[in-house]
Amino acid sequence: MREQIFQPLPDKPDHPGLEREMLARWDAEGTFAKLREQNRGGPKFSFVDGPVTANRFSLGVHTAWGRTLKDVFQRYKALRGFDQRYQNGFDSQGLWIEVGVERELGLNSKREIEEFGLEEFARRCRDVVVRSSEALTRGSIRLGQWMDWGRDYFTFSDTNIEYVWRMLKVVHERDWLYLGHRATEWCPRCGTSISQHELIGSYVDRADPSLFVRLPLLERPGEFLVVWTTTPWTLPANVAAAVNPEAEYGRRANGEWVAAGRYPDERFEEKRPGAELVGWAYRGPFDDITQVEHRVIPWDEVSLDEGTGIVHIAPGCGTEDFELAQVHGLEIVQPVDESGRFYDSFGWLHGLSTTEAAEQIIGNLEEKGVLVEAGLHEHRYPECWRCHTPLIFRIADDWFISVRVLRQQMLDANATVEWTPEYMGKRMDDWLRNMGDWNISRRRYYGLPLPFYPCACGHLTVIGSRAELEERAVAGLDQLEELRRPWIDRIPVRCAECGEPVERIKEVGDVWLDAGIVPFSTLGWQNDEWVPEGYGTGAAKGLTTADLPDHAYWETWFPADWVSEMREQIRLWFYSQLFMSVVLTEDAPFRRVLGYEKMLDETGREMHASWGNTIPAEDAFERMGADVMRWQFAAQPPDRNLLFGFGPADEVKRRLLTFWNSVKFFVDYANAAGFEPSWERLQPEGELTTLDRWLVERTHAFVADATRGYERWLSPEVMREFEAYLDDLSNWYIRRSRRRFWGDDEAALRTLWYALVQMLRVLAPILPFVTDHLWRVLVLDGPESVHLAGWPEVAEPDRSVLDEIAAVRRVVELGRQARSTSGIKLRQPLRRLVVEGAGLDGHLEEVADELRVKAVELGPVEAVELRVKPNLPKLGPKLGKELGAVREALTAGEFEELPDGRFRVAGHELEADEVLVERGGREGWAVASGDGVTVALDLGLDDELVLEGEAYELIHRVNSLRKERGFELTDRIVLTVPEADRELTGRHGDWIKREVLATELEIAGEELKLEKS
Ligand SMILES: [Zn+2]
Ligand SMILES: [Zn+2]
Repeated sequence: MREQIFQPLPDKPDHPGLEREMLARWDAEGTFAKLREQNRGGPKFSFVDGPVTANRFSLGVHTAWGRTLKDVFQRYKALRGFDQRYQNGFDSQGLWIEVGVERELGLNSKREIEEFGLEEFARRCRDVVVRSSEALTRGSIRLGQWMDWGRDYFTFSDTNIEYVWRMLKVVHERDWLYLGHRATEWCPRCGTSISQHELIGSYVDRADPSLFVRLPLLERPGEFLVVWTTTPWTLPANVAAAVNPEAEYGRRANGEWVAAGRYPDERFEEKRPGAELVGWAYRGPFDDITQVEHRVIPWDEVSLDEGTGIVHIAPGCGTEDFELAQVHGLEIVQPVDESGRFYDSFGWLHGLSTTEAAEQIIGNLEEKGVLVEAGLHEHRYPECWRCHTPLIFRIADDWFISVRVLRQQMLDANATVEWTPEYMGKRMDDWLRNMGDWNISRRRYYGLPLPFYPCACGHLTVIGSRAELEERAVAGLDQLEELRRPWIDRIPVRCAECGEPVERIKEVGDVWLDAGIVPFSTLGWQNDEWVPEGYGTGAAKGLTTADLPDHAYWETWFPADWVSEMREQIRLWFYSQLFMSVVLTEDAPFRRVLGYEKMLDETGREMHASWGNTIPAEDAFERMGADVMRWQFAAQPPDRNLLFGFGPADEVKRRLLTFWNSVKFFVDYANAAGFEPSWERLQPEGELTTLDRWLVERTHAFVADATRGYERWLSPEVMREFEAYLDDLSNWYIRRSRRRFWGDDEAALRTLWYALVQMLRVLAPILPFVTDHLWRVLVLDGPESVHLAGWPEVAEPDRSVLDEIAAVRRVVELGRQARSTSGIKLRQPLRRLVVEGAGLDGHLEEVADELRVKAVELGPVEAVELRVKPNLPKLGPKLGKELGAVREALTAGEFEELPDGRFRVAGHELEADEVLVERGGREGWAVASGDGVTVALDLGLDDELVLEGEAYELIHRVNSLRKERGFELTDRIVLTVPEADRELTGRHGDWIKREVLATELEIAGEELKLEKS
């Protein structure tokens, strides 16, 4: 036997095994380094990675999705020769990290953290980041993501922190920084306010107490206001009751005032417009605890859709309440402290949490006889996105950046960005139009220290750099390990105005400051001198060898050509980056964005650890393989939720098998033929058949169409083109050419090899493992890896050739449909096929052969019965009562067919979309139609056709047996056919011998036998 030119392939790929092998080879051969070297000096493609939070100890499949998209487009750009940065980023401080560490240490409150000690707490937090970043890196490498691992950016680096300081100083100099005093969403467990953009997606369904409470009117004895609330704990902070001045209010016989419109069936003793109730004084529900005056105020926003139309107002516990207090000069009562517990001044409520207080308050109101009704109310309520504690409202002093001036600048900057899908850009616009000032302060520990030093003299010193800190420091510099609590808090600075020592505020910054500064901090904005390994400062020391580049580098790589993250990042990372970039440069930090929706499990449910339907990426790597995952990710339209799971993975595996089998088919026959391709003469030339020329054009069309998909950042388009191409390749070219491969036809081998090699190159960014594996099988004298082979350059495809074969395939497809409805086996030859509506120039024989019919005729299909039914959702409304008559006429076949699919029936003209049309075969014919083409298959059988059908059956059985016995493709056999088939072999013997590679054909016994000759 001849030596094999191509390494034979197993029947099925073992994806995980093949991938581990590929990873080892890339490592050993330095493939990624070679790729970067190859592209050095090429055109630039700037990608900036959004940081992944380093608080998990394995890669999640959600993260794997985003990482795959990033990798796909970076690999595509690399194949096109683009020089790129491959810097991965880790989000490494903030509440996410803190909450994890608190859980590990069993700490339940801020007090416990402080008792544990902030230094040790900071070290534990860093430790989480170290372990998590290692695990995420491992997972990402296994996924096939090519990044400059080890040179990552960490947002807790001192360098990153200094860059945020710099931005904050600019904001302060422009007078956009202020300390706000307002009611804000507050997490009592985390002990901090939560900003507007952190509330996205944090609303959950909850049942809360629903109370109707009577408030006695001071100057109208025996009369009461009735208010409704779902937050009983806020009642002790009540100072006013709001009415809608335009609405009408009524007094019940028992003295209760409510909005009359809310109770249309009730009779009222007296009615007054809301405006007349304004100013009435009443006794508060907890005047025994808080001594404040209570009165009725007007408010246009009072809803008449729920409650009593009289709203309880507690300015210490709600944003709108707080604003009303400013307008009406109301007192502000703040009932709970940072941890959501009642202050000592609240008597018997002191120390209770808001939920604990609720029960006691209800009991107390009942005792006082002012509780009208108590029940439960289902509503959407926000919870903390990190610890899932229900949020409350509290008055707090928070630091804000005013967006008054920035809003329009950001809208203008966003107008320069190209968003995919487009609607996400509009979401960003909506957000920018409606967002409030940015609340940047958090009362926490492991985060960016806000460099604000307010002095008693009234001056606010904002430190913009470490150098400035050192220059202004009064003490404590020697113990400064990192720009972080607790060390930084021990360094008072001299006030820039009066020179007195001032302390830093205790707050840390919103994590989105850390992530938003990345396009500046990692690219060396305004940095005079390149510092090798200069990014690895503070907590990042020893974790990364990333450089701090200089300003010229920033000029080269800013703004990013492309960024990609999930949709929720619109108000998070995309927003914070845009915000900071507009502050510093007035420009958008990215030119293009690819966003994508959510990942759900394969049945469409959210994935939750507690529901047992999450899939760790490690499991997926081992059970399906990274390529299979990447296929699912790449094929997913970004504007829809991805249903991820093992079921869809099996489907992908099946399709990957068709792909694998096409290559295996080639390898087997090329080895048998001793075919040796040459990379130098990649494109086949010379003696090509029409079908070969078609495949070359088809391949060029695939390359062109897939390229367009990549250029539009739409990998699902690439996958769609690929699947159509693979179908043409395997179900048309290979099927139609089988005989030529048996005959060592060099042109066929050359053409198929070309097609496969080009296909691998196009798919390499999406399926980096299997394509490189197969590349190394198929390409013997070219680039050592498909990833080093560059992007295929092909001629403009000849679309007329493609259209011609597409029409042929359509007819064949319809012919198969007709056959399958007839119930006659595909192997049974038939007499004729009539085709209407397609040209088929020069392809009649091909069609006949594919459908196993003796003749194909072009002409009108008369053997058709037309059935027309009304399309009820359309016709019902249009015809009304006359529908019945029309339906009867249609059923009776009393109608006239008009052009463009319209019909005239019972005096009406119906449009094409108002009817459902079926064309059925008449007796003895099978008919199918679509896209304006109709085919009819003559189902009549005669003895000759039946005998031929049996010959096909026999050939099929023998070839299956050859496979079962493991015969080589080229093995010749001696075939023994049973006596019963004597007539068959008499008529078709030579043909059968040819088809099964038999050298001899014997007739004997009762069984079919074959052996090697
Ligand atoms: Zn929380
Ligand atoms: Zn001062």
